[in-house]
Amino acid sequence: MSTQWLPPSGGRSDSGGRIDVGILGATGVVGQHFINLLRDHPWFRVTWLAASERSAGKRYGDLPWRLAAPPSAEAAALTVAALEAVDEAPQLLFSALDASVAGEAEVAFARSGRLVVSNARNHRMDPLVPLLIPEVNPDHLDLLPAQRAAKGWTGGIVTNPNCSTIVIAMVLGALRQFEPKRVMVTTLQALSGAGYPGVASLDALGNVVPYIGGGEEEKIETETLKILGRFERSAVTPAGFTVSAQTTRVPVPDGHTAVMSIELAAKPGFEELAAAFEQFTAEPQQRKLPTAPARPIVLHVAQDRPQPRLDVAFGGGMPVHVGRVRPCPILGYKLVAMGHNVVRGAAGAAVLNAELLVARGQTGVKLGSDRGLTLA
Ligand code: NAP
Repeated sequence: MSTQWLPPSGGRSDSGGRIDVGILGATGVVGQHFINLLRDHPWFRVTWLAASERSAGKRYGDLPWRLAAPPSAEAAALTVAALEAVDEAPQLLFSALDASVAGEAEVAFARSGRLVVSNARNHRMDPLVPLLIPEVNPDHLDLLPAQRAAKGWTGGIVTNPNCSTIVIAMVLGALRQFEPKRVMVTTLQALSGAGYPGVASLDALGNVVPYIGGGEEEKIETETLKILGRFERSAVTPAGFTVSAQTTRVPVPDGHTAVMSIELAAKPGFEELAAAFEQFTAEPQQRKLPTAPARPIVLHVAQDRPQPRLDVAFGGGMPVHVGRVRPCPILGYKLVAMGHNVVRGAAGAAVLNAELLVARGQTGVKLGSDRGLTLA
C-alpha cells in the first residue's frame, strides 16, 4: 500500500526549510518538554500553541513555566489559542492534551487535514491508529491510508505509547527474535508521569503508592502487544504473548523503572541476550533522525544501574537503559529497565515519530533540501 499522502492544503515552512508545527496542550508538563525539545530543532519550528480556556488569549511567556531552562523567545512571544481554533493550526501538530479532551479535539484536527502526533491515550488502541515506536514497529505507519479511508479524515492521528509501555516494549522489541512468551513487570514510576500538580506531596514523599489510576496496568498489558504485533493486509494483529503488569508511583522526579521477568521461547544464552541489546538499532538510527539516540538501548554491566538519578538525562533522555540481566528461576530471564518518562515516554517519543513521518514522506509537508534528511 502506498504510504505517500499529500493533504489538500499543503504545508508551510520557513525560508530555512523548517516545517511549521503546533502544540496542543502546550502549557502542561509534556507540552513544556515539547517546547524545550523543539527549541533548535533542525526540521521543525514551533509557530502555534493551544491549551484550555484558562490559558487561551495569554502570551505563552506569561504563563507558569516549570522547567529549568526558560522557553525560547519565539515560543514565549506566541499567544495561546483555544482548541476551537482548528483552522489556524499548522499542518503538523503535537498533542500533549489531557485525556479528558484529547479524544474529540484530536479527531477535529485530523478531520480538518492536520496530522496529529499524540501522547494521549484516547486513540492508542484504535485498530486504525498507529501506536508507534520508530525503533520497534515503523511499518505500522502504513495504517494511515486505511485510517483516512475508513474515517473520512484528510489528516490523521499517530500515537506514542504510555510512558512505561515504551520502556517495556523497547526491551521486548530488542528481544523479539527470541520470541517472548510471558512477561511479568512491576513499575516504579516517577512523579512527573502524573502531570502537574500531580500526586500530593503528602502522598508521595517517603512512600510507594501501589496504584496508578487511568488504567495504567491495562495500558501496559494491551499496548505492548499492539506495538509488537504484526502489520499485514492493512491491519495489526497483536502479538500472541502475555504481559502481567503491576504499577507503583515512587518519589522520583523523572524516570520510570520497570523490573521485568521474561520467558523466551528460543532460550538464548546470556551473551546472546547482551548482544541483542547492544546491537539493537533500527530505522531511526539508519535514517539519522535528529532525535534518534545513537544507541536505543544502553546496556549497563554495573550491578547497581540503571538508576533514574544517574542515568535518566543521558543521551538527552532518549535511550532506554537495561541492567541487572540475570537468570530468573521462574521465567528464565530477569532485568531492570529505565527510561525518561517525559522525554522517551512522551515529548521525545512524539518528536521522533514526527521525524520518521517526515523522512518517510508521510506528513504532506516537505523540508528544505539542506536539512540533512536521509531517505532510505
Ligand atoms: P498536564 O501537565 O496536566 O497538562 C495537560 C494539558 O492539557 C495542559 O496544556 C492543559 O491546558 C490542557 N488541557 C487540560 N484541560 C483542557 C481543556 N478542557 N481544553 C483544552 N486543553 C486542556 O498533563 P501532562 O503530564 O503534560 O500530560 C499530557 C498528556 O500526555 C496526557 O494525555 C497524558 O496522559 C500524556 N502523557 C503524559 C506523560 C508524562 O510523563 N507526564 C507521559 C506520556 C503521556 P491548561 O494549562 O490551559 O489547563
